[in-house]
Parts: sequence; structure tokens; C-alpha cells
Amino acid sequence: MEKSELYGRLVAGPLPAGLRNSPQIQQVPVIHRWGPVVWCLRCGQVTWRQGRLPHHHAYCPQCLQLGRVSTLTSLYTIPEPNDFHFDGSRCVWRGKLSPAQARIAEKIKRAVQQRRRFLVWAVTGAGKTEMLFPGLEAGLAAGWRVGVVTPRIDVCRELFPRLRTAFPAVTAILLTGDESTPYRYTQLVVATTHQLLRFYRAFDLLVVDEVDAFPFITDKRLHYAAARAIKEDAAVLLLTATPSSQLLKVIRRHRFQIGMLPARYHGYPLPEPVFVRIGHWERLIHRQMFPTKIQAALAGWQERCLPVLIFVSRIKWLKPVLRALQRQLPTWRGTSVYAADPRRQEKVAAMRKHRVQYLVTTTILERGVTFPDVQVIILGADDPVFTVAALVQIAGRVGRSPTAPTGTVLFGCTRITPVVRAAYRQIRALNRAARRMG
Ligand SMILES: [Zn+2]
Repeated sequence: MEKSELYGRLVAGPLPAGLRNSPQIQQVPVIHRWGPVVWCLRCGQVTWRQGRLPHHHAYCPQCLQLGRVSTLTSLYTIPEPNDFHFDGSRCVWRGKLSPAQARIAEKIKRAVQQRRRFLVWAVTGAGKTEMLFPGLEAGLAAGWRVGVVTPRIDVCRELFPRLRTAFPAVTAILLTGDESTPYRYTQLVVATTHQLLRFYRAFDLLVVDEVDAFPFITDKRLHYAAARAIKEDAAVLLLTATPSSQLLKVIRRHRFQIGMLPARYHGYPLPEPVFVRIGHWERLIHRQMFPTKIQAALAGWQERCLPVLIFVSRIKWLKPVLRALQRQLPTWRGTSVYAADPRRQEKVAAMRKHRVQYLVTTTILERGVTFPDVQVIILGADDPVFTVAALVQIAGRVGRSPTAPTGTVLFGCTRITPVVRAAYRQIRALNRAARRMG
């Protein structure tokens, strides 16, 4: 183990002998116990009458997946020294920001330089990553350690190569919990939010992308981890396309400033969803058929060779829908994908390379993925699985590329519920705001 692997990290002991005597090492007590109450410093959670071990020892049952910590364990850290060679931190991205993007990018950069907290509310397809570059460059050039985290693995995997290309001379690592390369000390860390549990006052700048996405908003441990992973005076940027009212409340309480970008970078409006009444579609699917209007849309897209995403509410619908597609449009090639699918990455890549023309998917592909010219159907958009944020994100898959800025989003519903209607209204409101702001 290298000494640098402890910089701004929490590492469970025992440490190798060579490291144990290093003067910079700090021991962090991890479990505090008062009678039946166990408080864990790593994940910040309190448990009651759980995690008991013999001889009055106790462990934390809440963060077991990172390896068990108990009153017998110590965590070690070395205070973040910002030990980087940062003469090559220039951004080499040579694309051009739209005037609206440039305005937000400038605000982000200023917030970073002044170590402030800032929320960027930019619609799906607004080009959020590129707007970050000037701010990231300012932080990296100052020799800061920078974390870019998101709750979704797919979003991490898409972000990492783009950041690598933009900042080729900066040391960087991708941490998603399933990587084969071991951890090493780098200036830029791209990670899933869960990985923050392993950091300790490390980051001078933390960017949380897709901050509204499950599980970040519901998981108290992750809030705690984010607060502890940053230095006390760190700059924090939160990015979202679909802030919930709950998130906006938190933002106001913590006095974040807000920058809003309602327009996509190519200037076209967000595609507005079209409602299609599909009655008892489940029965039809079991007979390997589709509601008439859905069938017509699918056949039209097949003819025009357009890629299609078909969203369903639950895994149990993947197979029946796939079978119906194969029956109705036998010359069309496609497959299905879900969160725990071991071939998920491979299938998404096949769609990108046009080896398959459609994917039947759960909400796992609601964000983070971009397929040029894609068309979208939701079968059962009125299912409670689809929240307002999910529906807006799914609709946002369409028309992202400047060469194909429009497209169709069909919300197939049995009933038009308040949630479905709210999603539709939010998209319309953003388009109106975009027109107003030019
Ligand atoms: Zn814990």
C-alpha cells in the first residue's frame, strides 16, 4: 500500500508496518457506543440494539457492504496534502458554448473561485458537462482535488471519458465499486455517490451530477458522506435537470445560489410528449400484439430506420414486450435491458453502434444515455414507478443531438394521472421559459 492511498481517505486497519509509523497518519475512531446505541462515523448512521458482538463490542450494520467496521476496528487517514503536479491542468476542449451556456459557465466558474455552493438547473440535453469545464479548469489549475460524483453508474461511465479528453494531463480515476483497477491517488475523481463513504475531507470542489436521482435524495448516508468527503471550505456544485420540490427546499435552506438554463444547447425546444390512450395494453401484450397507435408508430420508425427506446415499468414486462415486437415486426432487431443485467453495457454499446435498433428497458436508461435520433415510447406511463422526474428525464432522451434536434415521445397511458400531467406541464413550462430567455 502506498502512503498516498490514505490521502483524504478512510482506510480500515491494520496497516502495513511501514505505514503505521508514518507521522502524518491520523487514527479516526469509527464506532461510538452508548449502551444500546451504536453511532458509525463512516456512514453517519445510528442503530439501536443491533450489531452487537461478544464482550460489549459492536459493529455498524448499515455500511457492511464496504467491509465491517466495529469497536475493534480503526480507520486511518492522512490529511489531504494536494500533492499534485498541476502545471498541465488546461482544458483542451475546443467546442463552443452557446451564449446561454456561456453565461451559466461563467457563473459556475465564479462560484468555484469563491468556494460557494451553486445549483445548476439545466434541462436534459442542455450540455451540462461542457458548462462545467471553465469551473473545473479553475479548480484544477489552483491545485485543488476535484470530485465529480453521480448516483448512476451509467452516468459516471459516460462522464469519465469526456473529462479525460478535456483534461488529458490531469491524473484521474473512475470509481464505481466494480472496477478491476485498484484505487490510486489522483487529482480528479469520478465516482458513484456511494464511493464518497470512503473519503475524508478530501475535496476542494465537489460536483454532484443528477443530484435528484435515486438513491441520493432518499439515502441519508449519502448526504452525510458528501458532507464529510469535502473540506470545510469546499465549493459545491449540484446539477439537475428535474429538481423535486423536496430538493429545492433543501437548496434554499442551505443558501445555494441557483443558475437556470431552460434551453437545450442547439436551441430547439424539449420534445413535448404525446399522450396515447392504450386501454388494457397488458392483455394485448400477452397475445403478442400492441395497441393500434403504438403498433403504427413502431412500424413507421422501423421503416425510417430510427432507433427506439421502449420503457416499461417493471422487469416482468421486458420479455412479453420483446416477444410481441419480434412477432409483429420480425425483421427488426432489438433486445431488452435492466439494472442487474450482466450484459447491460454491451447491449447499450450495441444500440450505439446500430447493431440493434431498439431496446426494451426499465427506468435504468432514463438518464445518462444519449442515442442520436432516438424515439421513445413509455408503455404504462401512468404506472406509479414513473415519477415526474423520471417522465421528464425519459422524454429528455429525444432530440438531444444537433443533427437530429426533434423526435417523438409517446406516453402510453390507460389513465391520464396527475403525475403524468405534471410532467407534461413541467416540460411545457421549461419551453416557455426558454423562449422568454431567448
Ligand atoms: Zn456505518
